[in-house]
Amino acid sequence: MHKFLIPCIILLLSCSKENDSEQFFLRIDDSQRIQNFGAEAGHLSLTVTTNCAIETSSSQEWCTPVPDYTANNLKISVTSNVSTEARAAVVTVSSEEVKQIISIRVNQEGAKPVVSVNEADITLRSNEFNFALEVTSNVPIVFDKPAWITEKGGNTWKNGAETYTFTAAPLPTGVSIREGNIVINTVGTFDGILPISVHVTQQQPRIIAHRGYWNKVGAAENSLASLNNAIELGAYGSELDVWITVDNILVLNHDATYAGVNIESATSATIAPLRLSNGEPLPTLQQCIDIVKRQTGPDKTKLIIEIKTHSSNANNKKCVDAVVQAVNNSQAGDLVDYIAFSSYVCEELLKINPQHRVAYLNGDMRPETLKALGYWGLDYQMNILKNNTDWVNRAITEGLTTNVWTVNTRSDMQYFIDMGVDFITTDEPFILKNLLNE
Ligand code: MG
Repeated sequence: MHKFLIPCIILLLSCSKENDSEQFFLRIDDSQRIQNFGAEAGHLSLTVTTNCAIETSSSQEWCTPVPDYTANNLKISVTSNVSTEARAAVVTVSSEEVKQIISIRVNQEGAKPVVSVNEADITLRSNEFNFALEVTSNVPIVFDKPAWITEKGGNTWKNGAETYTFTAAPLPTGVSIREGNIVINTVGTFDGILPISVHVTQQQPRIIAHRGYWNKVGAAENSLASLNNAIELGAYGSELDVWITVDNILVLNHDATYAGVNIESATSATIAPLRLSNGEPLPTLQQCIDIVKRQTGPDKTKLIIEIKTHSSNANNKKCVDAVVQAVNNSQAGDLVDYIAFSSYVCEELLKINPQHRVAYLNGDMRPETLKALGYWGLDYQMNILKNNTDWVNRAITEGLTTNVWTVNTRSDMQYFIDMGVDFITTDEPFILKNLLNE
């Protein structure tokens, strides 16, 4: 209730109830007796003509009448209407002196139906089962979801911004990745509102065979046999090390030299007679690209191309350009990820194409720095990640991928599975595969 004191002159002249009630007046023009508001919060002012003290009231809490003592106005304020339903209130203006009550109808439109969600994609790594969606809606919603996702707390709809929680069941034995959609549907049909899908991926760490799956009879590190073994195993990727020769041939080898021959200062003719322990010549990158390109089916093993750090940035640049050209000429861009110890190499790859998937090996940059430089991920030696146990989560927060090398024991594999890395690079891909299937 509000008391509204009329200007002093009028009061002095007229406000004596005992004298003559006829001289008191309270008027609100008929045209102001209905007030219409949109759904948002706001206020309107009405002109009240009176020489009396007035009282105001409202039938609804969301609607507040406030007399303006300086301007003979009555301000009516409304809060925003978060419901899609229109609503109405009655404001009354009265005065003891005139024994009169004037009603003003206040109408407010309903809000436009809204449903929005904060995520389009959720990735659940091996150590994550619970997740949440922030959904803003002013109409009732329900969630359609795969059987492996349950609604943790029942998820009762509430108007406005609300957190809804979910739990994914553990991956079944033998399944390393599965995907599904949570579809947000309205209960009933609302103009302009369509179902919203949130894509959920649940995945174990993916296997990367370090220098191929060479730890098998008939194979050797960085050989075509080890690449074929990795493909046969169904690894996510087969890592290889690449150098460029003086005559611009891209050759696989881990060290700078093989059998006493320095690769980057040799010609391909000098390298041609060299043999790996399994009898193969040193493969070229092109041979490896041709092999991964020949794969059929949905889950093709990728080449994880490590561009080695050459003796000069001129040679690094020459190698980067030749690798990218070979990949592009073969239209194999979706079948390769790039890794390097040299930040120069990594940044040249990103300069050529910011979409290149480039992960940094050298372990001396924090996730936030890598993100700022445009990297796709980090690929760090395991002790770096054991000594910086928050880096994987920080990388995930930054949207970076995480890869760890070279993880060869079951206990270390389990450690990084539990840490939730995206990739584990190992000389023992078969052991890792079995562990992930247990
Ligand atoms: Mg390597």
